[in-house]
Amino acid sequence: MKNHIVEHVIKDPVCGMEISRKSACEEFTYLDKTYYFCSETCLTTFQDEPGKYINQHRQHGINPK
Ligand SMILES: [Zn+2]
Repeated sequence: MKNHIVEHVIKDPVCGMEISRKSACEEFTYLDKTYYFCSETCLTTFQDEPGKYINQHRQHGINPK
């Protein structure tokens, strides 16, 4: 057997809290991508203005490499 798979930590796009899929309270699929939230409050905040939180995630601009 190879290395065991580490559970991915996902960031709640609204509050920035790090959660795992198991501990995520809510999930929501938007534009073929699934987002996970720590609470229903964060989910509804996201649903209210999803573009605001998605743009934060993939800012365009300088990409240092
Ligand atoms: Zn949250």
